[in-house]
Amino acid sequence: MRKTALVLGAGGFIGSHLVERLKTEGMVVHAADLKHPDFAASPADRFVLGDLRDPHVVRDVLDRRFDEVYQLAADMGGAGYIFTGEHDAQIMHNSATINLNVLDACHRIGVGRLFYSSSACIYPAYNQQDPDNPTCSEASAYPADPDSEYGWEKLFSERLYMAYRRNFAIDCHIARYHNIFGPMGTWRGGKEKAPAALCRKVAEAEDGGTIEVWGDGLQTRSFLFIDECLEGTLRLMRSGVSGPLNIGSDEMVSINGLARLIIDISGKSLSLRNIPGPVGVRGRTSDNTLLRASLDWAPDARLAVGLAKTYAWISRQTAALQAAAGSTTATTTIAMQDHVQRMPHPAMR
Ligand code: NAD
Repeated sequence: MRKTALVLGAGGFIGSHLVERLKTEGMVVHAADLKHPDFAASPADRFVLGDLRDPHVVRDVLDRRFDEVYQLAADMGGAGYIFTGEHDAQIMHNSATINLNVLDACHRIGVGRLFYSSSACIYPAYNQQDPDNPTCSEASAYPADPDSEYGWEKLFSERLYMAYRRNFAIDCHIARYHNIFGPMGTWRGGKEKAPAALCRKVAEAEDGGTIEVWGDGLQTRSFLFIDECLEGTLRLMRSGVSGPLNIGSDEMVSINGLARLIIDISGKSLSLRNIPGPVGVRGRTSDNTLLRASLDWAPDARLAVGLAKTYAWISRQTAALQAAAGSTTATTTIAMQDHVQRMPHPAMR
């Protein structure tokens, strides 16, 4: 019998890549999301378009005991979405409701293994004020003080999954993802994250021009390429380790440094202008000590390698849009955008 998996949030960035990866392993993959993936048709065997805040939809999707269920659906976005405060109520309500529904349905019908994607945003702000020495070891999560309501919801949901594990013996595996990036992620529209936003700005800039970077650009982060995120996710899910466990890179870079790396990759000569904007904590990177000890594995690809693949993909998107905008009517532009967004998967790996 072929193994079965269900991916919730399969229309999103990580979920759509995960479905593809599970299909290459020969699994039967069911999927659900509010929307289809933006950039390529999903290879899932069944794709349910539905709202996971509705318990009836969740029960319809969880209609059997899957070997593996991956819960990635969440209301989320980059700094421009989660740090302005404007979306706090909907972020907390929507994501918590999805998690409550998913756990209830898994409890009713049974599940082999259940994966939950938490976030580095759960770590306390007081440990991330020094851009050169942030503390993000798993044990440092408490006393809790996340800097966003998005982080608080993730922390609540981590505890919810752990409670179901304790009380109902559901085999949950929890990862704390740190800034995942790669081709076929959101790259415009307000929900894009720093690597995609900077790739877009660089791709759109004229040689010799300037790009804008939010904040003073000295805030630090680490970024994990999508292929390594999937590798870590599957290793954690299929291990005896329940987590929460960091899945991230420990190659820390300032945001200005990230912008300069992308400019180097583009071959353009551009300068940076730092402007006020939502920035989050001063420093954050993945501490992979526990990950290495638990899974005997940690990501090791250089940031520049994943950035080069991501920049190449985003510059093709921007070029196609610019070509469409330069042609005739607004109608043509919309049609082209749809065409650009539904191009087949590039050969990434
Ligand atoms: P994403 O926004 O691309 O994907 C999330 C998906 O959830 C979207 O396709 C969205 O339509 C879907 N969704 C939202 N509300 C829904 C609802 N009510 N019903 C059905 N589907 C719904 O995000 P992503 O980058 O793929 O992230 C996947 C998961 O990993 C999320 O839980 C996110 O919080 C977590 N995470 C991601 C990162 C990162 O850097 N990408 C970092 C930390 C944690």
